[in-house]
Order: sequence, then C-alpha cells, then structure tokens
Amino acid sequence: MRNMYLNGQFTAGASTDVIEVRNPATEEVLDTVPRGTPQDVAAAVGAARAAFERWRRTPANERAKLLHEAAARIRAHWEQLVRLLTLEEGKPVPENAEELEWTANTFDYYAELGRHERGRVLPSAEESQLNLVLKEPYGVAACLVPWNYPLLLMAWKVAPALAAGNTVVVKPSEMTPLTALYLAEHCFAHLPAGVVNVVTGYGKETGEALVTHPDAPVIAFTGSLATGRRIASLAAPLMKKLHLELGGKDAFVVAEDADPAVAAKALAYAALLNAGQVCTSAERVYLPHNKAAQFTEALVEHVRGLRLGPGLDPATDVGPMIGAPYRAKVERHVEEARARGAKVLAGGRRPPELPRGYFYEPTILAGVDHSLAIMREETFGPAIPLMEYRSFDEAIALTNDSEYGLGACLLTGDPAKAKQFFEEVKAGTVWINDPLTDNYAGPFGGMKMSGGARELGQEGLDEFRETKHVHWDFKMGMKEWWYPYGKE
Ligand code: NAD
Repeated sequence: MRNMYLNGQFTAGASTDVIEVRNPATEEVLDTVPRGTPQDVAAAVGAARAAFERWRRTPANERAKLLHEAAARIRAHWEQLVRLLTLEEGKPVPENAEELEWTANTFDYYAELGRHERGRVLPSAEESQLNLVLKEPYGVAACLVPWNYPLLLMAWKVAPALAAGNTVVVKPSEMTPLTALYLAEHCFAHLPAGVVNVVTGYGKETGEALVTHPDAPVIAFTGSLATGRRIASLAAPLMKKLHLELGGKDAFVVAEDADPAVAAKALAYAALLNAGQVCTSAERVYLPHNKAAQFTEALVEHVRGLRLGPGLDPATDVGPMIGAPYRAKVERHVEEARARGAKVLAGGRRPPELPRGYFYEPTILAGVDHSLAIMREETFGPAIPLMEYRSFDEAIALTNDSEYGLGACLLTGDPAKAKQFFEEVKAGTVWINDPLTDNYAGPFGGMKMSGGARELGQEGLDEFRETKHVHWDFKMGMKEWWYPYGKE
C-alpha cells in the first residue's frame, strides 16, 4: 500500500479502507491507496494553511530555486516515473515520456514566471500618491486532477499555485494516484512540510470534503462537465474562486487543399492519442464533400495499420482505455450510430486477441450527423466519426454547433481559410496544421461549457493570484472633499 502525503509525512490517516489501483492493460491490481476521509482532508488543509504563512513570505527567488529543484528531481526519476505512469494510466511509453517532459518543464517555466512581477504601478491622480496593483496568493489551493494526464494536469495547477505563493492539497484521480504519490516522495520532499499535500480518495467523499473545506479558497479542477457542475454548485455559496477545466467535443476540419497523406496522419494522431482520452481529442471530423472519398481512404488505411497493445510494448501505437465504464460509453456511441445507419470503416469492436484489459479497436465511422450522441456528447475514446461539408462556412457552423468550446483543429495551406477559422470558431485553442501541440507560454482552456479557466502562460499564474489595489497618499493631511459639505 502507498500512503497519503500529509504535512511532509506518509500516512494512512484516519482511513480504514483502501482503493485498488488497476493496470488498464491487464486489469490486475497494481497497488492500493487509502480511501481518504473528511478528517484526512481537514488534516491536509490544516497543514497547508499552516505552511502558507511562511511560504507566501519566502522570497520569490528562493521559491524559484525550489521549483527548479522539483523539475530536476522529476528528470532524475524519469525512467521509474514513465514506467509507473504507463502501468497506471495505460498510454504508450513515448506518450508518457512526453507527459513527463511537460511536467518537469512546467515547474521550470513557473519557477521563472513566478519571480518576474507581483503586480503593477498605476499613474496616480495626485503627485503625493502611489497606486499599486498587488497580486497576492489566495492561501490553500485545492487541486483536483483527472486520470488521463495525472502528472501534467497536476503540474499545470501545482507549479503556478506554488509560484504565486499558495500552498496546495492535491486530490489525484482514484484511478491514477500512484504517480502523484511517487512525485510527493521523490520530487517534493525538499519543499517545506505542508507546502504540498496529497490526499487519495473518491471524488464524492474525499473530493467534496476538499471542495467544501472553508480554508481552501481556490478550487482548481480538471475533469468532466458533470463533476464541474457539481463542484460549482458546492463552491459558489462559499464564494470560492473556481478554476474549471472541463470536457470537450473538438472538431477537426480538413480543407479541400489538404494533402490526404498528411490529413490521415494528423487526424489519427489528434483522435487516437492516449486512445482518444484527451480533453482536446478530435471527436468530430469534417471532410469536404468533393474529396471526402480520398481523405477517408487514406485515413482508413493508416488507422488499420496502427498496433493496439499494452503501453509498455515498444510496438504499441494505441493503448487500452482507462476502465470498463469508459469503454462502455464508446461502445454505446458507436452502436447507436451503427443502428442509425452509420458505416463502420475500421474497428467498432473489442480486439479478440486482447481479451484482458480495457482495449477497443480504433474505430472510423462514416455517414454520421449531429443528431447522434457520437457527434454531440464527449465520447472520450478511440472513435473517429466522419461527416461531410459542402462549403467552408458550413464547416465553421458545424464546428460551432456544440455546447463545448475547448479546442478546434484545421488543416489547410490557405491563409484566408485559416484566418476565417480562428476568427469565427468559439474555442479556447485553435490548432492549424499542428493538432494538439501546446506551448508553455500559451494559455490553455475552454469557452462555453468547457469552463473558463486557463492553464499555462501568464494567465495560468493569474488563476492563483487575487488582486488588491493599494491607494497610498504619503502626505497625510486634510482633504477638501471631506465633511462638512457646507463652507466653514
Ligand atoms: P471526473 O470529473 O470524473 O474526475 C476528475 C477528478 O475529480 C478526479 O480526481 C475525481 O476523483 C474528482 N471528483 C469526481 N467527482 C467529484 C466530486 N463530486 N467532487 C469533487 N471531486 C470529484 O473526470 P475524469 O473521468 O477523471 O477525467 C475525464 C474528464 O476530464 C473528461 O471529461 C475530460 O474532457 C476532462 N479533461 C479536461 C481537460 C481540460 O483541460 N479541459 C483536461 C483533461 C481532461
């Protein structure tokens, strides 16, 4: 069993029960973690609150050194972390190596950004005045992390939160807590006790105890829309600062001028990375009517050649899904589309050669429309539904026809189309010709039902800072506009 990390110590806390963590490629139990209780949450928040008073006063240069040290320790434990991440999350090793690089670099990035400034100075109304806009930490940041990128999405919260002077309590997903605890043991041990705490447990009990704890004023959450709504309803009456990164239903538009070979690989990567379990996975593909057959043929050929298997196998392109209910949802969406007349051009079933593990074959569907769940709800799996459009305006209208607005992709060499697309599409990130590539300095987040938070960049730091305006007249004296109004 791996224990929780509270106030610099590993402990089972008040918990008397455990959660089993399974390898999604084999369904075997990898390890267990404590099923955290509200008392454990209170202990973690208490430790973080106590550590906050010193941490917020720690000089920014010193905090920067400690965050760079976290990055260095992550790199020093590279192989163990990549392996553990592959075992508990499932995606192939190269994708986990990429996740780890992002995790380490995010700590380096915010180590620097956190010491650049803490506000600004305004021009004053009078000569004897100084007006300061101060950016201050909130206190304890509750960080609730999903399973699909357990370390990266933790780093996108923890690094800016700490750089801004907050302390944190992390609640990893119950499906992927092992890498978070490994990081606590090997990569955060040099931080003062209580600055980072990791509480394991289920969302409904441990997560909700954290969200409603009065001493955690900022809630940074990445996860589904349904959970985001629940958290918002719990936190709003407590006037907490909410940072919500929710689901998506990203469109991928292929323009007529695109090369079918490039389109096939770009589409497969955007839709099948992490077995389609990326919040910005391409979940709706729009092909131009007069060239749809060419694009479809190239895509089907490429996808049929991809290898499905366990993440640790170097030959694997696409790994398993995280668990049975997630696979069942993809099956439901594919079956509904099939029953309503869609054609399955590849996949559409569990691979018979892999009877254990939560595998599902990369699936391509043609002949879908927006009345189907697979074009409206988040599928979050290896399914690529293809729909045809007749004009570029129609492709943009279809892209915007979703309650979500996380990301959108376009493949074109035509600058006029590119500009029209990024101007008219309502999404937090628009990728043109390089899908799903992020930038440390580029804010990432959603519009509409994808939540309004931003991670990375200056915006990602500002999510963890509140603003105070100081109006200071350093010449103390009478003001002519004070009482009484009548002339004396
Ligand atoms: P989830 O909402 O089920 O859980 C996310 C985290 O919240 C977990 O730690 C979970 O234990 C916790 N949680 C669950 N219910 C809770 C509750 N009532 N109160 C407090 N905490 C609770 O999501 P998931 O299945 O782990 O992740 C997949 C979802 O995350 C998808 O919808 C995906 O689109 C989304 N996601 C979004 C982004 C983004 O940046 N926008 C990135 C990755 C994933």
